[in-house]
Amino acid sequence: MPGGVSSNFRHGISPTPLVFERAEGPWLFDVDGNRLIDYYLGMGPMILGHTPEPVLRAVAGQLQRGILYGGQSALEAEAAELFCSLVPCAEKLRFASSGSEAVQAALALARAATGRRIVVDFEGHYHGWIPRGEVELLTWNDLAALEARLSDGDVAAVIMEPAMCNAGAIAPAPGYLEGARAACSRHGTVLIFDEVITGFRVAPGGAQQLFGVTPDLATFGKCVANGFPVAVVAGRADLLDLFVTGAAMHGGTYNANPVSMAATLATLRALADGSVLRALEAPGRRLMQGLDAALRAAGVPAVVTGFPQIFHVGLGLTEPARDHRDLARVDRVRYVRFCGELLARRVRALERGAWFLSAAHDDAVIDETIEAAAAAAMAIR
Ligand code: PLP
Repeated sequence: MPGGVSSNFRHGISPTPLVFERAEGPWLFDVDGNRLIDYYLGMGPMILGHTPEPVLRAVAGQLQRGILYGGQSALEAEAAELFCSLVPCAEKLRFASSGSEAVQAALALARAATGRRIVVDFEGHYHGWIPRGEVELLTWNDLAALEARLSDGDVAAVIMEPAMCNAGAIAPAPGYLEGARAACSRHGTVLIFDEVITGFRVAPGGAQQLFGVTPDLATFGKCVANGFPVAVVAGRADLLDLFVTGAAMHGGTYNANPVSMAATLATLRALADGSVLRALEAPGRRLMQGLDAALRAAGVPAVVTGFPQIFHVGLGLTEPARDHRDLARVDRVRYVRFCGELLARRVRALERGAWFLSAAHDDAVIDETIEAAAAAAMAIR
């Protein structure tokens, strides 16, 4: 295994990549016997924590009934119906097995629908590891630049994280999503929201529900199935139906396997009424404030921004970042040291500054984290 890992994002900061033997609630247990409070959360999916009872029960039950049918299941139809009832843009959907694949599928639909090749994407946004071809990068949150680029009428799709969460955690500027929506409609360009991180984390209907702007297509992954490999491309029926006419291709041996569908249904049922995500708000805010206060007390400049369920600690910033140019000022070297000090105190946080929260992070866990952060901040002052 090159680098000792199966994904380039797992090198981490230790001299050797960490190896785990168990996870439970908000914790990871490594092979050296350490219990770590986990804010990686599998890079985001574990919104209900590592061992949510309803998901474990549904999956255990399904395992008795088979692993992979190579055909449809009632679970799949139920999961699709529930998904479409929750996500504003979702008239139809296809299940996939990873966010990267769902993005490929969405781009194929947009290119087939428009007969155009060019895709507009944004600096600092991430849509998976698969090369996409003919992509032009613009600065996100700059509506004039987007309108100008679309005016030639040659862009198949605009794809964006509707709230920028891979680099920083930045909300759209007021009117930006609405303006992007209008410009795409005006120029016959397909608007794609990549909700792989925001989906079922910032609201049950994703950022499109939170901000009230409906894209033509959206991609989801991560929180959809609380750690099982499920992703979704969803949106306008006339676009999704291009898979049926053969204008666009979509396949996948493991798509909608019944075990993952059992997990999807259990997870979406748990998240559907919004109470779980709402319950994350108070602890999330407390953690954001606690980290901010810890760094401030140590005299380490930092800005903590984002949503209580997914936020970003930008070391070295004095103002909240608005785009990737502001994020370039983040002191990454020092932040990695901060993560190292946290890890020494049994808290595992992503080195790129994102913090994911789960329903299993209770007050005691948050308190323990803030205490560890206070000491870690002193160690890097
Ligand atoms: N899109 C976004 C916004 C993501 O954050 C990610 C993964 O982090 C992906 C797509 C790719 O998803 P996956 O890693 O499941 O292929």
